[in-house]
Amino acid sequence: MRYGGLFQTLRGSVVKWLWPEVCPFCGKVSSQGICAGCRRKIDDLKVREPRCMQCGKPVQDTRREYCYDCMHMEHRYDRGYGLWLHKEPVSTSIYQFKYHNQRDYGVCYAKELIRCYGNIIKSWTPDLMIPIPLHKKRRRQRGYNQAAVICQELGRMLGIPVDEKSLYRKFYTDPQKTLSHKERRKNLKHAFALKKGFRVVPTVLLIDDIYTTGNTIDAAASVLKKKGVEKVYFLTISIGQGY
Ligand SMILES: [Zn+2]
Ligand SMILES: [Zn+2]
Repeated sequence: MRYGGLFQTLRGSVVKWLWPEVCPFCGKVSSQGICAGCRRKIDDLKVREPRCMQCGKPVQDTRREYCYDCMHMEHRYDRGYGLWLHKEPVSTSIYQFKYHNQRDYGVCYAKELIRCYGNIIKSWTPDLMIPIPLHKKRRRQRGYNQAAVICQELGRMLGIPVDEKSLYRKFYTDPQKTLSHKERRKNLKHAFALKKGFRVVPTVLLIDDIYTTGNTIDAAASVLKKKGVEKVYFLTISIGQGY
């Protein structure tokens, strides 16, 4: 065990030397992950109160409990939060993370999620964390699922089990094909399914990179609740602005 630990540490330092940690917002080498300059910039994008009691989007009116979207639609999930507003430099950082193999950013995002929502995650007492899956064809094309990268990091840091196999996407949609809002919604509604071996737990925490309308999280929550999961929460890296 001792040698194993030493090997891990050595390997860790070699990896750090070969691939030093970079700031996920400006790409410069930074030992603390997010560099001081970018931290100042993104601090303004951190979602703060007043926020929607369901999706966590910021709301302008302090007297309002829910954002416009949540007032007009019934969600299948219970509650959730996004870390930053989906604006520059957050949007570009997520784009790089997703499409340009910047998987390391996932470590930074996970650390930041724990810094801000560690206590909330604890209060939710999730039995399991599940990343929103990509269709297996899409995953093969891209090489990895960005949500799973964040989820695995969170699971490792928090000691919560992660299941990235049971929930899967049933349909493949060609990224070249443009769908109307209505078509996308319809496609999403039955997008997910659970594999037969899935063992039902009381509480699941879903992880994704971006929250926009909530349709994706709802579709996943719906499948889980149908199977008997009682509570479904979510956390994302970025979130749209609420009204
Ligand atoms: Zn930076
Ligand atoms: Zn809301």
